[in-house]
Amino acid sequence: MGPPGSGKGTQATRIAEAYGVPTISTGDIFRAKVAAGTPLGLSAKAYMDAGEYVPDHITDAMVRDRLSRPDCERGFILDGYPRTLAQVGELDSMLADQAARIDAVVVLNADAEQLIERMLNRALAEGRADDTEDVIRRRLAIYAEQTAPLIALYATRGLVEEIDGTGKVDHVTGLLDSALMRRVSVRGEVG
Ligand code: AMP
Repeated sequence: MGPPGSGKGTQATRIAEAYGVPTISTGDIFRAKVAAGTPLGLSAKAYMDAGEYVPDHITDAMVRDRLSRPDCERGFILDGYPRTLAQVGELDSMLADQAARIDAVVVLNADAEQLIERMLNRALAEGRADDTEDVIRRRLAIYAEQTAPLIALYATRGLVEEIDGTGKVDHVTGLLDSALMRRVSVRGEVG
């Protein structure tokens, strides 16, 4: 977890490679469906372009389908899901159905103004339609309102690892890796 632009996607990809598990990024899946012009993509696009969340029932069904694939059996990293309280409930039910559980909820912390600058730069590099300054501010506000409260909820389950996401990419990966190692050794399960 972490606000938009905090580096979730970059870090999730790196950690997934290191652990040999897939990353399930709801934002990436939505963007692929928009690009392919599928019906799901068409319904998601207006929400994404406005910086709003895609409705839970659409997002949940997509994640349920993805988690049921064989490559998730050894584990997976979720990037950008769950983002609402209702999604947490759905994820709990998906995990219960698969006899799986969450090992850790990693939170990348970063300063809002720094994030806005980072995302405006990313918009230039990647041409994302949801990276204009107005939309970025809207996305940060929605994160604060709907998603940040999930951190407290997962903290009551003892799962949260907060990481300073403001340093260089390699440094942040190092912090993340150590946090996950601690989780793994606490549980006595490696790899
Ligand atoms: P991201 O790349 O993770 O920032 O996601 C880009 C956009 O996809 C978000 O601004 C939302 O419109 C949509 N999206 C991604 N994940 C979710 C989610 N878990 N729930 C609702 N909408 C999502």
